[in-house]
Amino acid sequence: MRSSSTSVRGLTRRELLVNLSGAALFAAGPGLSSATASGDWHAAPDERPFDLLVQGGRVIDPSQGLDAVRDVAIREGKISRIEAAIPLAQARGVLRAEGKIVTPGLIDLHTHVFPGVGPFGIEPDLYCVRRGATTVLDAGTSGAFSFPAFRKLVIERAETRIRALLHVVSIGLVAGNTDNMGELLDLRYCDPRLAVKVARENRDLIVGFKIRFSNFLTGANDVAGMVRARAAADEAGLPLMIHIGGPTSPLRELLSRMKKGDLVTHAFNSRVPGLLDEGGKLRSEVLEARERGVLFDVGHGGGSFSFDLMEKSLAQGLRPDTISSDLHAFNIEGPVFDLATTLSKFLLLGFSLSEVIERATINAARAFNFGAEIGTLKPGAEADVAVFDLREGDFTFTDADKKTRTGRQMLAPFATVRGGKVFRP
Ligand SMILES: [Zn+2]
Repeated sequence: MRSSSTSVRGLTRRELLVNLSGAALFAAGPGLSSATASGDWHAAPDERPFDLLVQGGRVIDPSQGLDAVRDVAIREGKISRIEAAIPLAQARGVLRAEGKIVTPGLIDLHTHVFPGVGPFGIEPDLYCVRRGATTVLDAGTSGAFSFPAFRKLVIERAETRIRALLHVVSIGLVAGNTDNMGELLDLRYCDPRLAVKVARENRDLIVGFKIRFSNFLTGANDVAGMVRARAAADEAGLPLMIHIGGPTSPLRELLSRMKKGDLVTHAFNSRVPGLLDEGGKLRSEVLEARERGVLFDVGHGGGSFSFDLMEKSLAQGLRPDTISSDLHAFNIEGPVFDLATTLSKFLLLGFSLSEVIERATINAARAFNFGAEIGTLKPGAEADVAVFDLREGDFTFTDADKKTRTGRQMLAPFATVRGGKVFRP
């Protein structure tokens, strides 16, 4: 999964140009020279201060209120400078971004990137870092029983920065959505003490907990599951993300147990009971939760985002705090495709470019403790940068209910820098 960044020998020139990433290539400087030049040529010490320059793009960084043409200079895996004109001669590599949109590396708060364990998992690098998302949260694919494998076999090998929400149910999503095998149908698997133990043993990677509430996944156990999830989150001092998708019990029973900093994902799905009451008004428990500081996340997914419901929520003043994709094996061929496509759907809903980028960068970064400065291009932050084409035209976008809307703009991934290294879609 990890492409070689330690040796450039044996790669063709084309592979070097296409795959390798700027910083790794140039960091290999003398090695590369001796491998490609003949004779005993010796390079002079390289005085250029920057490893990579992302040059001439329209930089949109809501963390700094910035929307302007800028050059972004990277050194040793960190953002070094961001200025109107940085001389090309000061960098060992350049990523030309004229006419393109440059943002902090996107953060996707809801993905499933544990392939091979259960039906949902996808290869993280192919769909995340190569398509603009430098950091992703896996939302509960693993539980206590499978997290050690997730850590060792996926997270530690991926180029995408992966953090996890541990499913409070120890079997995680190994059974997928198979009817009659939902993870909360047997409460013995929902052991908050075990979840807390594993979270504590993996503090560097587990940043919160996840639990799912759809009637076919829980039967009558949803409130009992919520009580246990609450206990785990309180004991570990971590945020809790709940999935809503037609719970058995009234929504109030679940939302009333959520605290400031907890998140509702799939918030804008059309299943009932959802955010809206029978009359189409936002439920009082939704407004109360928002007042308490509960966050509302998109989590588009294959069945969990409705243009219609989103528009009704927006009309009543409820905007998502974060925009995530819920990218998994059943929606990478549509209707989700990637996080950039999900963001594009909010452009057609009237959000500005800055407002959508904010919800997938700094807002997402603030929702969890990622253990790294991300979601911003401030000097000193991780050198995670996403570059997009902003295409103009008529684009048909489809929601999870197979309803369509036409948008005039589409964000399309062009290149991503993660830790100073360049990736292409
Ligand atoms: Zn999900």
